[in-house]
Amino acid sequence: MTTTTEQRSGEQRSGPRRSRRGEPRRTTPRTLTLPETLTVKELAELLDQSPIDVIKQLMRHGIMVAVNQVIDHQVATVAAAAYGVRTRLAEPVEDTSAIQAGSDEESDPSLQPRPPVITILGHVDHGKTSLLDYIRNTAVVEKEAGGITQHIGAYQVLENGRPITFLDTPGHAAFTAIRSRGARVTDIAVLVVAADDGIMPQTDEAISHARAAEVPIVVAINKMDLPTAQPDVVKRQLSERNLLVEEWGGDVIAVPVSAQTGDGVGDLLENLSVLAEILELKANPDRPAAGVVVEATLDRRRGPTATVLVQTGTLRVGHYIVAGAAWGRVRAITDERGEAMESITPGSPGVIIGLNATPEAGDILNVVGSERAARQTATRRAHRPTSVGNLDTVLTLDNVVKQIDAGDVKELVLVLKADVQGSVEAAVQSIEKLSEGEVKARVIHAGSGAVSDSDVQLASASGGIVLAFNVGFEVGAERTAERLGVEVRQYQIIYRLLEDVEQALQGMLEPEYREVVVGRAEIREVFPGRRGVRIAGCRVLDGRIMRQGSVRVLREADIMVETEINSLRHFREEVNQATAGTECGIVLADYNEFEEGDVILVYRMERAN
Ligand code: GDP
Repeated sequence: MTTTTEQRSGEQRSGPRRSRRGEPRRTTPRTLTLPETLTVKELAELLDQSPIDVIKQLMRHGIMVAVNQVIDHQVATVAAAAYGVRTRLAEPVEDTSAIQAGSDEESDPSLQPRPPVITILGHVDHGKTSLLDYIRNTAVVEKEAGGITQHIGAYQVLENGRPITFLDTPGHAAFTAIRSRGARVTDIAVLVVAADDGIMPQTDEAISHARAAEVPIVVAINKMDLPTAQPDVVKRQLSERNLLVEEWGGDVIAVPVSAQTGDGVGDLLENLSVLAEILELKANPDRPAAGVVVEATLDRRRGPTATVLVQTGTLRVGHYIVAGAAWGRVRAITDERGEAMESITPGSPGVIIGLNATPEAGDILNVVGSERAARQTATRRAHRPTSVGNLDTVLTLDNVVKQIDAGDVKELVLVLKADVQGSVEAAVQSIEKLSEGEVKARVIHAGSGAVSDSDVQLASASGGIVLAFNVGFEVGAERTAERLGVEVRQYQIIYRLLEDVEQALQGMLEPEYREVVVGRAEIREVFPGRRGVRIAGCRVLDGRIMRQGSVRVLREADIMVETEINSLRHFREEVNQATAGTECGIVLADYNEFEEGDVILVYRMERAN
């Protein structure tokens, strides 16, 4: 990455250059083009000031920094303003975060076959973990030195001399969580269905998730050792879901297995290997590596460790990398037995150390050219606005309608939850009937019960919204929806729901207002102010606190008051807003009864459609 030098020298002056260091004698302020992040020292150089002086200026604004600390554009602007210098943001360094295996052109001659990556999905207790364990224990790539195999989040087995990679966090929640972060990891989903239990609600969910991800499904009919096993019932249930098995004339591979005795597991692996060959999975091992973090932990001895699945290119010891908001240089790579590896090739996993922080599962990993590029890209990713502050990316029916209007979207993707199965079916049928025009509504998952985390993740990963008919949220799901910016529309009357879908499909919704959370602050301390006023000393937890905006004081789940902000201060200064992570003092209009630990939530009303 060479962009930064150019950006830094791209200084533009509209006034005369300062005559001597530290004498800002100019009439027109000059403008400095700055990269999104830089160190205090680098900024000081550009400003022609001593770093100590810049630090002092920032301290005056309540910002404590060290000479080599990386600061973002906002902070740099504050410092520059102290010298009468304006700033503007340079074009960002090329963002490599979207690079994935899928981006390798199929016709590229440098492509080579790579192992398939398999995820195991299915209902709880149907044997996902047992199957993964059986495969790992019997078929893990045999090596001479037999170290103990550890759980690292992924492993590889050899089938007929060809490697197959398994992600060993089973279940569709993890699968879709990774997908909703923009990474496509899985090539084939193995759907485990217990032969004595048949298709259950989570099996249905898993099918929806795999379909939404457009990943082929191979069915493992498990627990065949049980006398109560009824594989034909499973096959019939599959056919009712448009998964017709091969022996019944369809193209779905279904393999009877027992994760307990191991019967059929070899057959399953063989089928996976053959299917992988048909899928012609390829990647270019000779380009800068990109992949996904499958799991990451902070090891007390080795620091942050991350299991990564490389999707394209080859990751080697010594490479500079970015993984989510973490960066570093690969110091060592190990396999699941703790043995050293020199590199990780496409489609394969490995554990890396050398990152400065622990990334999150689903974070995208990229190799970059230099330490500086690694640091900058990571800082930029860390400062990327979260959904709370970034309302443009929120998936709402209104946004989708706008996209439909603009011709960008030809499909309204929906996840539908209702109180009872009867309403689910009725609603799906009616929605399908509405979809006869040019724009279609596609229900990618429908089920009964409260809106779950997995529903929200699925909608997020598929660019859809959730319609909830007569149901609420499961614990945590509302927060996930807020975090991912997914709209969950709740209805009590079915025709209202259908009306909205119909109007959305026609690109015309009646305006409706809804509440949008702008930010939250926790009251850490209460100070006495003048004339009996009390000041809430707060820390902004997320989003931002804005002086304009409606306010609600929350004590646990109770709403104490709805009011407005009278005064918002950062240190002594009256400010218009305070951002996440900063401290501020708040005086509320007509309300003084807050206590430490209460949360002040700022929201505004927005047209919901
Ligand atoms: P998961 O929740 O899908 O990961 O299911 P587990 O792998 O934890 O298995 C649930 C239960 O089913 C455990 O008690 C397993 O021992 C049992 N089980 C799994 N596979 C088989 C099988 O093939 N045959 C029999 N008899 N029991 C199995």
